[in-house]
Amino acid sequence: MSDTDLHDVELLNARKPDGIAVVTGASRGIGAAIASRLGADGYTVAVHYRQDAAAAADVVGKITAAGGTAFSFAADLAEPDTGTAFWASYDAAAGELRDAPVQVLVNNAAIIVNGVIEETTAEDFIRQQQINTTAPFLIIQAALPRLADGARVVNVSSGATRVPIPGIIGYTMTKGALEALTLPLAQHLGPRGITVNAVRPGTTDTDMNADWLRGNSEAITNLVAQRALRRMGSPTDVADVVALLASHDARWITGQTIDATGGERL
Ligand code: NAD
Repeated sequence: MSDTDLHDVELLNARKPDGIAVVTGASRGIGAAIASRLGADGYTVAVHYRQDAAAAADVVGKITAAGGTAFSFAADLAEPDTGTAFWASYDAAAGELRDAPVQVLVNNAAIIVNGVIEETTAEDFIRQQQINTTAPFLIIQAALPRLADGARVVNVSSGATRVPIPGIIGYTMTKGALEALTLPLAQHLGPRGITVNAVRPGTTDTDMNADWLRGNSEAITNLVAQRALRRMGSPTDVADVVALLASHDARWITGQTIDATGGERL
């Protein structure tokens, strides 16, 4: 074994993450947990939100109180010009950091509209596609000149692409498309050292499913019984996997979709 096959421990210790991490939909839920974890890891976090400025400010406040750096910016991903509008809003909020390369981009924001195929209206179908699939595509496209060589793109998908749930068929299609985006984009951006991966959370305790899950002990018991790890998932369970993919240690992983469901229906 040559020296180059061994880790340089001093180098590992010195290698603290820096640069900017942009997280969409980061004012609550899994996005807030991702923002907070990346802030703790040393990134300057750009906390994107749609309209809840106070919640986004709260996330920024928690990151800065813990010694990190963060700022927030708003953009509605339902708008057709998402790519341009998103980065224009980012630029306005980033101040002198606006020209700094982006090291991590996490496409986390999404909506879920419940309904089997017979119940899914064209309007709901198209709206989900816009926010969950078209917006990440356009945001990444417009980000390409800003991404640092060696950057990380992480797309938040869903365990629903592996375990079928007929009642969220339209949502599942949007996440399947996000995974389909991940693979060719990883191939395309590989020469720049940029990795592109996706993470599939399982059902997690957030506002997204609070209407049927929060406080529903029967639903929670059923869900947990189907999981190898036998417990509910928390936003931090998912955030830690995203942070892993964002880390230097994940530099050799690209084009992958990582299941982070706690082993749902293995
Ligand atoms: P959440 O509803 O708490 O958060 C979603 C975020 O997306 C919010 O911050 C919201 O403001 C943002 N968003 C929605 N529409 C937007 C728009 N038009 N413009 C800008 N931002 C918009 O849900 P969550 O559970 O934290 O979900 C985070 C990610 O995890 C999503 O991609 C979701 O699909 C995925 N996921 C969640 C679960 C779960 O059980 N919670 C399971 C699998 C995957």
